[in-house]
Amino acid sequence: MIRLFCYFLCVLALTRGAIAQEVSSDPVPTLLISIDGFRPDYMERGITPYMNVLAAQGAHGALNPSFPTKTFPNHYAIVTGLRPDRNGIVGNSMIDPHRPGAVFSLGDATQSRDPFWWDEAEPIWVSAEKAGIRTATAFWPGSEVSIHKVRPRDWLRYDRDISNQQRVEAVLDWLRRPAAVRPYFITLYFDNVDMAGHRFGPDSQEVNDAIADVDAMIGYLVDGLRQMDRTVNVVIVSDHGMAATDEVKAIQLDELIDRESYIAVETGPYATIEPAAGTDRRVYDALLKPHDHMACYEREKFPPELHYGHNPRVAAIICLAKPGWVILSGPSPYPLSPGGAHGWSNAMPEMHALFIASGPTIKQGADVGLMDNIEVYPLLEKLIGLHADVDIDATGKPAEKILVK
Ligand code: AMP
Ligand code: ZN
Ligand code: ZN
Repeated sequence: MIRLFCYFLCVLALTRGAIAQEVSSDPVPTLLISIDGFRPDYMERGITPYMNVLAAQGAHGALNPSFPTKTFPNHYAIVTGLRPDRNGIVGNSMIDPHRPGAVFSLGDATQSRDPFWWDEAEPIWVSAEKAGIRTATAFWPGSEVSIHKVRPRDWLRYDRDISNQQRVEAVLDWLRRPAAVRPYFITLYFDNVDMAGHRFGPDSQEVNDAIADVDAMIGYLVDGLRQMDRTVNVVIVSDHGMAATDEVKAIQLDELIDRESYIAVETGPYATIEPAAGTDRRVYDALLKPHDHMACYEREKFPPELHYGHNPRVAAIICLAKPGWVILSGPSPYPLSPGGAHGWSNAMPEMHALFIASGPTIKQGADVGLMDNIEVYPLLEKLIGLHADVDIDATGKPAEKILVK
């Protein structure tokens, strides 16, 4: 009963303003929201009234993330239309033969804020700024970096202690501005669903609390838009899903190879391994043989449907764990029982990600099924009114089905 009442209020709030058509000659701003680690089936838990209304008002479906199903590669794929192998962000951690000894990682700002790692592709905010369209970001991987010498006109330094409400307030402030200084492409990022998923597992009460919190923030955002009578396109995505882990399902690399003989660039649901002495056959021999709970490949022989392994930044050997299993080199960075992880093949349904789009030119009630996450890029281009002079992997076909002709 309470839930029904809330749905009624939410529908009322949403239909009375923000996403409704409005007579105005200003372009409609596009807001791209990422809820890190949000699985599409979380929408069926009965705790996301605001998001369910947005989905019903517009298009919804699921995203097939790019491999590896990790945060940085997929956020960059969504805003570049290029899979990680071609956008250059091949992992949350990576190496590059042109920068021997250096490791890109989320915790190392010296590397992660260096344009060297990002310049292989052009994110949509850079193309938009170059075309004279003003942009702003309340977090997005890469948005703090001067890529092709351009940053969003307004951007915030990533800080997980900036509350979700503060992030939403920043977006509302940008949209409240007069038309001439208003951004027309904005990003907003939430990390608490992913963090709860890692610590407590996808079926935990803590994940449900985080989902409800983010949904309430989306309601707060929509209400703020209604109060300022601002029409926007809202595209809500996630980068990947989340699956439960178990401490008995751990593969220890130390039991197969000496720690000194390799560098584990990434570990977890998949591992990328570089032999310490470039051509060390012992590492290849120990890993490339059959294993019970993982399969290892030389990067050139990685399954082609995962579109991965051609970029020189991918380490020499890629090991893919079976669903639920993780590959470790020493202790796990996250608790495994209970716990959650992502990074497995995108063929695993639990790795699928969220897609909702709502706005005046988006078909109402369109169910787009499962689409590759690189296809979000052509949709954003159309919504912003941008035709960037960049090469992309996306086809643009799903965007045609989502938009009103
Ligand atoms: P993952 O290990 O793939 O789940 O990465 C998720 C984590 O990435 C989040 O919990 C954040 O701590 C981190 N993160 C997300 N966005 C950024 C950013 N823009 N800069 C640095 N770290 C980030
Ligand atoms: Zn993520
Ligand atoms: Zn995560």
